[in-house]
Amino acid sequence: MKFTPYWLDTAPQGPDRSRTDIGGHVDVAVIGAGLTGLSAALHLARKGANVHVFEKDTVGFGASGRNGGMATTGMSIGFRSAVSRYGFDTAKAYLLAYHDAVDTIETLVKEENIDCDFARTGKLNLASKPAHFEGLRKTHEIMSGRLGLETHLVPRSELHSEIGSDCYHGALVEARSAGLHVGKFTKGLAEAAARIGVTIHEKAPVEQVRRLGGTKHEVVTARGTVRADQALVATSGYTGRPFRWLQVRIAPVGSFIIVTEPLGKDVCDQIMPTRRMASTSMNLLNYFRITPDHRLLFGGRARFAMSGPQSDAKSGRILHKAMTEVFPQLTNARVDHCWGGLVDMSMDRMVHAGEHDGLFYSLGYSGHGVQMATHMGKQMASYMNGTPAANPWSDLPLKRIPGHFGPPWFLPFAGAFYKFLDIIK
Ligand SMILES: Cc1cc2nc3c(=O)[nH]c(=O)nc-3n(C[C@H](O)[C@H](O)[C@H](O)COP(=O)(O)OP(=O)(O)OC[C@H]3O[C@@H](n4cnc5c(N)ncnc54)[C@H](O)[C@@H]3O)c2cc1C
Repeated sequence: MKFTPYWLDTAPQGPDRSRTDIGGHVDVAVIGAGLTGLSAALHLARKGANVHVFEKDTVGFGASGRNGGMATTGMSIGFRSAVSRYGFDTAKAYLLAYHDAVDTIETLVKEENIDCDFARTGKLNLASKPAHFEGLRKTHEIMSGRLGLETHLVPRSELHSEIGSDCYHGALVEARSAGLHVGKFTKGLAEAAARIGVTIHEKAPVEQVRRLGGTKHEVVTARGTVRADQALVATSGYTGRPFRWLQVRIAPVGSFIIVTEPLGKDVCDQIMPTRRMASTSMNLLNYFRITPDHRLLFGGRARFAMSGPQSDAKSGRILHKAMTEVFPQLTNARVDHCWGGLVDMSMDRMVHAGEHDGLFYSLGYSGHGVQMATHMGKQMASYMNGTPAANPWSDLPLKRIPGHFGPPWFLPFAGAFYKFLDIIK
């Protein structure tokens, strides 16, 4: 078994960008070569800016190369929670931003000719408990009724048309969500950005950012220093000490994934015939899908812990047990890949983007960032060019997480809390 992300292992490698020259003046410095940073760089360069991206490790090293490859249309807190928090109209605008975000990926794939298996397979939200199906029914009534979106309910008696498992109590299908090979997409975005003049520096950790006035900064990396008219922090769950104000507002929470050996088309037709992007209705949820080469990808929070070699292996064992409970027919299937990554949780589990002390930022995708990070890269390019309306999240205050000073010591307590909620609800 490999402890490396399946997506990065099966994507084209791209050139070595770790020996580039760093120095002088740039229009925009982007920190982080994930979907936010690369999409922002591409869209800024399209507007004529001289953009340099600085990445601590390599392109896609963060969550962008480690996720489930599910570009779904929902927000992390769910639509009904958003309505009770923000009112119907605002919640609707937030939800539609996710629809726009999936469109942004589709447009980029077409415009830049990125070969990444993008497909509008739809999303399958599975009721883990009988009462959860009632919740899905209410969501469906609002989605298809008041919002006119393409959703339908699947009762338990018909669930085998969607999934070869007896674990669930019905499902809600949403048609516009998509799946993609996120390794090929992230690498493809980097190539597209490089083609129009963006310089990407790998193995170039930003160690310090000094404000020179307004939005101008000196960006100090381990391989050299640049002066930038603008700088965008796109470091998500990997945000560290140089960005202290953001670091204490974002909790990095581990999420883990296993991928089986190729199972063949017939087995995949039996376990997930419609190939939708599936997730369960628990707080500590599982998510799963079929990869383009007919493997099962099965992920979840498994434990509230950071990602690391031991943590990933331990989480992999928990996920394997969960996977064989859902699909007993896979008990003997070999697991080829197991890895973890960091999800960037904000206090309110909403996206946060804007400017603080002259530094631009976009993060807090809270596990729903494949589409939104890509979209926010595009939106931030407009925002940084003087269009405030491009930022759909500007009204949300980014609050500090109480007691968060750096290492997220509180994760096991948060995990225990969500486990308790899953037992009682
Ligand atoms: C296991 C897992 C599964 C997920 N599944 C899904 C899914 O199926 N669907 C979905 O919508 N979302 C999913 N997500 C969330 C999604 O992947 C992220 O929200 C999204 O990729 C964030 O992109 P980003 O570019 O903002 O950040 P990242 O991709 O995390 O990139 C940040 C980059 O910043 C770099 N960096 C950090 N500090 C510095 C520094 N000082 N100097 C230079 N570089 C620095 C890091 O090395 C990293 O490469 C998942 C996340 C994980 C971890």
